[in-house]
Amino acid sequence: PQPVLAVVGRPNVGKSTLVNRLLGRREAVVQDTPGVTRDRVAYDALWNGRRFTVVDTGGWEPDAKGLQSSVAAQAEMAMHTADAIVLVVDAKVGATATEEAVARVLRRSKRPVIVVANKVDEERGVADVHSLWSLGLGEPMPVSGLHGRGSGDLLDKVLEAL
Ligand code: GDP
Ligand code: MG
Repeated sequence: PQPVLAVVGRPNVGKSTLVNRLLGRREAVVQDTPGVTRDRVAYDALWNGRRFTVVDTGGWEPDAKGLQSSVAAQAEMAMHTADAIVLVVDAKVGATATEEAVARVLRRSKRPVIVVANKVDEERGVADVHSLWSLGLGEPMPVSGLHGRGSGDLLDKVLEAL
């Protein structure tokens, strides 16, 4: 069985876009409306000759429960099924109470966690990447899932973590 990377985060932060970027192909469904439930969430990825599975936890976004508890449940699920976790944050929004709650869950995890500051499309963006240090999960990595910026560095870091 190949190692598993889980991608967690609030709806609309760009998880599926980032997953597609990590796969190098378009398989995860990107939605402009948040909270779309998908049945298929695990994809095969290959980087530097190593295979791993990427799980897009967007498929576990129930609308019925509160947002914060459902994203925290994603994180719990990820902790128990994945070898490493990517927490995606929309850097244009910053860390909300939801990210803080999820970070509390993930800090208890023995798994390596990589914080991704997504939607940093330009070098001189409006995004405040440094503020994401406050999540207590190490250095936030600026990435643009949409344009691909930082995705190679992220993949290298993922392979180190797996
Ligand atoms: P998910 O709900 O977390 O899976 O988010 P999606 O991948 O479906 O993306 C939600 C919205 O954010 C879509 O309109 C995407 O085009 C947009 N988006 C995703 N990544 C980026 C990015 O790096 N930069 C910008 N500007 N928009 C992005
Ligand atoms: Mg999604």
